[in-house]
Amino acid sequence: MENKTTTPKEICGCVHLHTKFSDGGCDYNTLIKAAASAGLDYICVTDHMNLAGKDAGFEGRHSGVFVLVGYEHNDERQRNHYLAFGVPQTAEGATDPQDYINRVREMGGTGFLAHPAEKRVSTLDVLFNRVIGFLAHPPEKRCYFKTKPPYNWTRWDAEGFDGIEIWNQVSDWMEHLQGLRSFPRLFFPNRFIGDAPRELLDRWDEMNRARFVSAIGGVDAHSLKFLCGGITIYPIKMELRGVRTHLFIDEADWSGDGTAAKTLIDAMKDGKGFISNFSRGDARGSKIFLRDESGAVEYPGRPVNDLSLPATINIELTQDAEIKLLRNGAAIQSTFGNAAAWPVTESGVYRIEARKRSGAWIYSNPFPVGQYPL
Ligand SMILES: [Zn+2]
Ligand SMILES: [Zn+2]
Repeated sequence: MENKTTTPKEICGCVHLHTKFSDGGCDYNTLIKAAASAGLDYICVTDHMNLAGKDAGFEGRHSGVFVLVGYEHNDERQRNHYLAFGVPQTAEGATDPQDYINRVREMGGTGFLAHPAEKRVSTLDVLFNRVIGFLAHPPEKRCYFKTKPPYNWTRWDAEGFDGIEIWNQVSDWMEHLQGLRSFPRLFFPNRFIGDAPRELLDRWDEMNRARFVSAIGGVDAHSLKFLCGGITIYPIKMELRGVRTHLFIDEADWSGDGTAAKTLIDAMKDGKGFISNFSRGDARGSKIFLRDESGAVEYPGRPVNDLSLPATINIELTQDAEIKLLRNGAAIQSTFGNAAAWPVTESGVYRIEARKRSGAWIYSNPFPVGQYPL
């Protein structure tokens, strides 16, 4: 097997963005401009049930940002959202989650469960629609705070998906818009991005003991309109400064337009990196890797090297944080600072979490060490 000892290129971008081709508030040009000014390397657009952005020719490089166009599939009850990438068309007519997971795979695509642990309570309705909303809105206009039931994943018996969106920035933000506590969240949304749901992390850790399941961080950007189109309350520029997915790739595979889409999709599928919340600190440049005694280096995600134990997990972050090493979901080491090197002497699923100002900053993808089941 190939022994990678050189440092790969890090690309940093935002996944799960909506445009006017579905229920997003901004068009592709606005989105690309915002992504370029945020310094992103890539964005992944996932409008609901359509690939119109691809048909319109937006996939590719624009203003230095690589635009990948996937889509978001849902069942007939609007639940079980699935982010699909690398498909030539939508899985039209598929209403059962197992069916659309299979169809995406048959088309050569890659898929992720979207906001699977979404919970949402309806005090929003009371606060925004019945009290304030009715004063100002023409009923024919889309109003975000009208009815938003939770669109969680219910089909945990489904098989064959590639990964999970473990962190969903806007879903979490909306989930906590309740009563008076909503007001600071409305004005400073990025300050209130919560942690990835604990029960979802537990489930993901458990799955990874049986097979590799990658994680991505999603924004679910809609450029939210408040009072039915009057005010953009969570503008795209702000949305792109939250949850980001950092991936380690080979530079040669990234530079050409012909290979960039596949490189990006494969890196997400293989979980080759980590997820960060930019509003807690710019994590670009952070390094998380495992090195064995022979010097073989492995970045997070599906292993590409043959590793031997003992090995060391090395962490070099761009800023100080509370850093934790987890094995099979349980914390086994922790420290405060911007670096750590911890020994790995037994098989298991290892991953890193880092927290800043008591909120989650970084979640790495797992390092599966040993043979499955772990
Ligand atoms: Zn969704
Ligand atoms: Zn979405």
